[in-house]
Amino acid sequence: MRALVLVHGGAGHVPEARRAEHVEGCVAAARAGQAALRAGESALAAAVVAVEVMENDARYNAGTGGSLTSDGTLELAAAVMEGRARRAGAVAALPPFPHPIRIALALLEAEGPVMLAGGGAARWAAAHGFVRSDSMITARARERLARWREGRVRGVWAGGTVGAVALAHGTVAAATSTGGTVGKPPGRVGDSPIVGAGTWADDASAAVSCTGVGEPILRVGLARTAADRVAELGAQGAAEAALGQLEEHGGEAGLILVAPDGTVGIARNTTTMSWALCHADGTEESGC
Ligand code: ASP
Repeated sequence: MRALVLVHGGAGHVPEARRAEHVEGCVAAARAGQAALRAGESALAAAVVAVEVMENDARYNAGTGGSLTSDGTLELAAAVMEGRARRAGAVAALPPFPHPIRIALALLEAEGPVMLAGGGAARWAAAHGFVRSDSMITARARERLARWREGRVRGVWAGGTVGAVALAHGTVAAATSTGGTVGKPPGRVGDSPIVGAGTWADDASAAVSCTGVGEPILRVGLARTAADRVAELGAQGAAEAALGQLEEHGGEAGLILVAPDGTVGIARNTTTMSWALCHADGTEESGC
């Protein structure tokens, strides 16, 4: 049975000098997912483990190292979804917890609310054994906010949201985690944690994780739009067509997609989007 994990490290404009290390982090994350697949774990487990590795990696805009709000605070967002029963879990405007993706997974497994936000999400997480951390703001995130305040950031985002899609045992899954856009107003929720916008999984079509400026992605429902076109256009064709639709709304983004037959789609209209693909059989590819 075909099994794979495909990871992205965010759409954006990563300078040439930093592209190799951006890809390197994706490869490390995809290999962690690959190890889970080889151990016989589910697509959901592989996608979550890959994203968790990148939440720990301060080079990316997720978990530790996430972008700051205009107040200089960290508000995180994450979502997971699996394609068999379309179970999903998501958190938004979450105060600093090291692994928002694990909290999203715990919500999925609890099968109560699909999504919790802000103080309520933090309370639920604490009650379920997750520990808040106030040491997740990095010097680089502070510098990025300072540059944004001075009007020196190109666009509004940091180029390091993370996501993964995976296939195992005939089921697809998706996971996405982000600090959001740089200097966002407190309480702002982007596309990443929204089912159908930034994250989607359905065994009848595909699993998708998106990245880019969240507002147009929300208006287009990019992840679901892409998945819905897989039957007609194939995995790569659907990813590109969905991005074309987004462009009509002025969106800048990237997305990764895996269909239940193991075909993948990778598309962006930004300068960069680091990615890595690892199959359970050992084959690997990566790019930016
Ligand atoms: N989509 C994320 C958001 O709008 C940001 C990103 O992907 O870089 O919050």
